[in-house]
Amino acid sequence: MTDYVKFVDVTKCDGCRACMVACKNWNDLPAEPQEFLGSVQSHKKVSADTWNVLEYIEHENGRGDLEYLFRHSSCFHCHDAACEKVCPEDAISHSKFGTVVIDHDKCVGCGYCVQNCPFEVISLKTYKDKNGKEYRKSQKCTMCTDRLEEGLQPACVTTCHTGAMQFGQRNAMLQKAQQRLQEVKGRFPNAQIYNPTGVGGTNTIYVLGEKPTVYGLPETPKVPISALAWKDYAQPVGKMMLGATTMAVVGAFITNRLFNKEGKGHQENGGDRNE
Ligand code: SF4
Ligand code: SF4
Repeated sequence: MTDYVKFVDVTKCDGCRACMVACKNWNDLPAEPQEFLGSVQSHKKVSADTWNVLEYIEHENGRGDLEYLFRHSSCFHCHDAACEKVCPEDAISHSKFGTVVIDHDKCVGCGYCVQNCPFEVISLKTYKDKNGKEYRKSQKCTMCTDRLEEGLQPACVTTCHTGAMQFGQRNAMLQKAQQRLQEVKGRFPNAQIYNPTGVGGTNTIYVLGEKPTVYGLPETPKVPISALAWKDYAQPVGKMMLGATTMAVVGAFITNRLFNKEGKGHQENGGDRNE
């Protein structure tokens, strides 16, 4: 597997939102009109039909000036992806490019991935079958894996007119991020690279102009311990002892308890949900 990374340099972004439009176009996602939020930001956050959102953050900098910070937000394509770990159907996996993709034929819409993503970038969408019966599937940014298969870059990267996004092999992108960090430190003393180790590093890495929390990002996101215990220990041992079919029934019960949304704290999840 070659590890590909989308490098987002937020200090070059001018907030034009072309990445949002390109994503909608390429992935054939419907428009999603929103109530006025009291800001120029168009959507509160990503959803099942809006896989990236350009965030506008009003920020008072160290010189006492008010400035806009921008951030292209979408799936991080974590190395240790919590969504992948908790999925009882193995519907989420890493592609040969290192991107995290969902097999919609396998997804049963249980929502455990939604509840466990440390960045809140995966959502459930409700559909109706030909008999009018409702069913749900998880949706999120695919890093345009279908474009990567054709030797193209993600649509958002291709369309970005300021060069705020680049796409390439991990080491090359990390080098570019390091170089850019040195260049922007004068203007942004708190600038840093965001590639958190708690989720094994990510395949969307940022140069941020400020601390992660200023952008609404967790400082040290982690794969929830319950997710690790479930995928790495309970599932394999259970399958060995009980067989795959029995384990699936037991699993449905246990995951429901383990990952029950009720009462989960903010720290693991970071805020509002997308259901
Ligand atoms: S950001 Fe969330 S949805 Fe994306 S790979 Fe990581 S855990 Fe999965
Ligand atoms: S909704 Fe359930 S089955 Fe579908 S991808 Fe998420 S965890 Fe897997």
